[in-house]
Amino acid sequence: MSNEQVPQPTVQPLSSSGKHRVVVIGSGFGGLFGAKGLKHSDVEVTLIAKTSHHLFQPLLYQVATGVLSEGEIAPSTREILASQDNARVLLGTVTDIDVENRLITSEVLGRKTVTGYDSLLVAAGAGQSYFGNDQFAEFAPGMKSIDDALELRGRIFGAFEMAEIAASRGESVDHLLTFVVVGAGPTGVEMAGQIAELAHRTLHKDFRAINTKQARIVLLDAAPQVLPPFGAQLGDKAKRELEKVGVEVKLGAMVTDVDERGVEMKYKDGTVERIEAVTKIWSAGVAASPLGKTLAEQTGAELDRAGRIAVNADLTLPGHPEIFVVGDMMSLNHLPGVAQVAIQGAKFAAKEIDGRLKGKPSQGTFQYFDKGSMATISRFSAVASIGKLKLTGFVAWLMWLVVHLFYITGFKNRVTAVLHWLVSFLGRGRSERTTTEQQVFGRSALERLDRGASDLISDPGVFDAKRDRDEERRKELEHWAKVEADLTDSGRRGVGSASA
Ligand SMILES: Cc1cc2nc3c(=O)[nH]c(=O)nc-3n(C[C@H](O)[C@H](O)[C@H](O)COP(=O)(O)OP(=O)(O)OC[C@H]3O[C@@H](n4cnc5c(N)ncnc54)[C@H](O)[C@@H]3O)c2cc1C
Repeated sequence: MSNEQVPQPTVQPLSSSGKHRVVVIGSGFGGLFGAKGLKHSDVEVTLIAKTSHHLFQPLLYQVATGVLSEGEIAPSTREILASQDNARVLLGTVTDIDVENRLITSEVLGRKTVTGYDSLLVAAGAGQSYFGNDQFAEFAPGMKSIDDALELRGRIFGAFEMAEIAASRGESVDHLLTFVVVGAGPTGVEMAGQIAELAHRTLHKDFRAINTKQARIVLLDAAPQVLPPFGAQLGDKAKRELEKVGVEVKLGAMVTDVDERGVEMKYKDGTVERIEAVTKIWSAGVAASPLGKTLAEQTGAELDRAGRIAVNADLTLPGHPEIFVVGDMMSLNHLPGVAQVAIQGAKFAAKEIDGRLKGKPSQGTFQYFDKGSMATISRFSAVASIGKLKLTGFVAWLMWLVVHLFYITGFKNRVTAVLHWLVSFLGRGRSERTTTEQQVFGRSALERLDRGASDLISDPGVFDAKRDRDEERRKELEHWAKVEADLTDSGRRGVGSASA
């Protein structure tokens, strides 16, 4: 590659309007609510995120199990912010934050962009943690993104298809009809409950060689109870409800190995057990965005064991009042990694930025208002913990329904989600069962390329258009267009074909 061809980053010009520049990193709950919170401020907002959508993570398990479509829970961020004139959206993975020069470097398919800021709101969330066993990811995908959910949908529905073929040949199907969910937090509980409904209720009339009601769904956790943040009483209740819908719950079971065909676990008393299962789902741990480390190294802020960065009481970083960190990647007073922490933190930061520009006094410290937590177990059954109030069963499920409907973005998505829920909960159908081979194997294929998807396209500035070949192709296309038109104009189209 010649010197002229070395890809140069695009450098975003400084604000031409002279307005205060706010860069928001992330389009999840923190990023979106932060950007929207500045709608009426006299600022220029640039939202940079590695996906072009805003993801409603709490409903990912319904995409994975065919209840909802990906579009319903992941609308385009650009579309959501289209009417916010002071905001623009930039696709890219942030690879560096230079806090001294106030510059953000982002990258997409080998194209780098550097964006300057006056205030920065970082809401890059958290990814899956395999507790140092990243090799498990190949066989037990996590559930953090639309890609994850679609891959899992392909793996779950695909397992039934493979079992049908194996059964028709007289082969054993137990490993294909066993589904293991690792991690009994809200995600694991909801996922296990939905797979059980899918197998025992939705699919049982669709296959001929297998009985899907015989599918085994196992929920594992190293902890001694399910849903620890909900307390012992609700945890017990959730466990009993899960067992009622056919989920096997194994507690005190620490996963020690995962491979293509199964999972190995060790109990406290030293007993080792292996479950043969082709489909494994990992919902056990979180690791904050590596951007926390980038910021910690430059600001001296501390990281906790999940990589979350410690913020001041006003959500800024030590010595950097212009940098706010919110949501799953911040650490403050043991606040949980839930949507409301991200939303309220982002609103607080946006208000603080706006207030500073208007010369208003600071709001002081961030106060979190806990609105409670809930998790569904199956249709018509959920658990909810709201302050001292502990609810279970249908009432909790109705609350879950209303709250989730309220937070789904966009009127159209709300309407279609309700329709899909009616189909799945009142009927037994699932409208979103489409899966493809690429959904299941695309991730592994991309991981085998040195530079991922960038390997599949040319580097910026080095594409050779090969004009001569273009001209040849044009002549060829013109020739065939003329032949086609002559056939029609001369009335020869179709003539003689019957006797040919
Ligand atoms: C499966 C699942 C179920 C959940 N269920 C519930 C629930 O029922 N109730 C509840 O309250 N909470 C739930 N949560 C937690 C909740 O979704 C999170 O707490 C919340 O999304 C955190 O918001 P955030 O903005 O900090 O991060 P996220 O919503 O994760 O957003 C992070 C954003 O940053 C972007 N990003 C990351 N790294 C980079 C980078 N380097 N460059 C550019 N962009 C980047 C991502 O693309 C994304 O847009 C659930 C989470 C999961 C995964």
